[in-house]
Amino acid sequence: MASVNEDFLNLKNDYLFSAITERKNEFEKNNPDKKVISLGIGDVSLPLTKVVIDAMHKATDEMAKKETFRGYGVVQGYEFLIDKILEVEYQKRGVFLEKDEIFIASGSKGDLAGIAEIFSKDNRVALMNPVYPAYRDVNVMLGRDDIVYLNGTEENGFVPEIPSKHVDIIYLCSPNNPTGTVFTRKQLELWVKYAKENNAVIFFDSVYEIFIENENIPHSIYEIEGAKEVAVEFRSFSKLAGFTGVRCSFVVVPKELKLYTEFGEKVDLNSLFRRRQSVKFGAAPYITQRAAEAVYSDEGQKEIRENVKYYKENAKYIKKELEKLGFTVYGGENSPYIWLKIPKNMSSWEFFDKLLNEAGVVGTPGIGFGDAGEGFFRLTAFSSKEETKEAINRISNIFKR
Ligand code: PLP
Repeated sequence: MASVNEDFLNLKNDYLFSAITERKNEFEKNNPDKKVISLGIGDVSLPLTKVVIDAMHKATDEMAKKETFRGYGVVQGYEFLIDKILEVEYQKRGVFLEKDEIFIASGSKGDLAGIAEIFSKDNRVALMNPVYPAYRDVNVMLGRDDIVYLNGTEENGFVPEIPSKHVDIIYLCSPNNPTGTVFTRKQLELWVKYAKENNAVIFFDSVYEIFIENENIPHSIYEIEGAKEVAVEFRSFSKLAGFTGVRCSFVVVPKELKLYTEFGEKVDLNSLFRRRQSVKFGAAPYITQRAAEAVYSDEGQKEIRENVKYYKENAKYIKKELEKLGFTVYGGENSPYIWLKIPKNMSSWEFFDKLLNEAGVVGTPGIGFGDAGEGFFRLTAFSSKEETKEAINRISNIFKR
């Protein structure tokens, strides 16, 4: 009898996005003449940039020739890409990492899931609340049920306090999805100190790093002294360069970072992750890695920053117009996400229905990111300028009344 891994049965249904789609489809069926605008999902709308496309074409041609064809790659990733990452993402910020501390892969989603497997099932996990829901699901799938939620509220600026009890793994997301808030240097110093004192490990997810605009906000956790001993960093080309459909990411696993056996012996996370990747992942495709390399050319950097500017202008526009309507709005500055406080006496699903039925606009109910997200609503800046304007116009028409 093939039996199931029952940890998978502890997953809550993927209720949020299926419920959103269901309600949207129902509305469209009943209102065939009304075009629904989605400011709901976190996917990009601008196409890949020219430099990236050219690099992909070139790499594809190389694959067609015997002399330049590439088969299985190397687990770590190609050196041509790792060197660029070290230089542009780290050395320019005074962070010095070694080549074998960077692992190229195919999206942070898989990386976050992969690293979590190397930690004991008994570890206590701390999750921000509200936050990207995949963190919780990954741990549920691994049978890890000791989860502590660190609530982000208006009072603490959606940056949770250090937990009062011991935790082993801490997920920090900065800029945060969905609240858009970022950790300051001082706050990160406190987390690194906590992790050191508790032999804990921080998973620092900064896939929205490119959206950071305030000068004093760290772009990498390794800007904090001592972080290499306690933190793994996750970065992705998804939002950096519109690679949501191409899939490329990297993980930083410093060699200073050690885990402990039951008897207190130290083991090296970097070696175990390499081993894990070689068995379960393989390597990111050559064409993809050439595309990612192109992002770091001068022209590539110019192009991706123009795209990010486009989304940031959408974010600022949404924020400004909603504030004019009297809403309290968070995020939208160092982030593509706008975190809107819902008027009193309305749940986030009721607000969803109101926007859909009265404005034909889809967003994401805050409850979908954890119970601390109730009372809030996420809008994204990833749509086109025209659609964003139209959506805000329609929302204004409801709330002006
Ligand atoms: N981390 C956060 C906070 C995200 O919001 C997302 C995707 O939306 C991911 C990770 C996954 O990114 P990727 O496309 O690299 O898998």
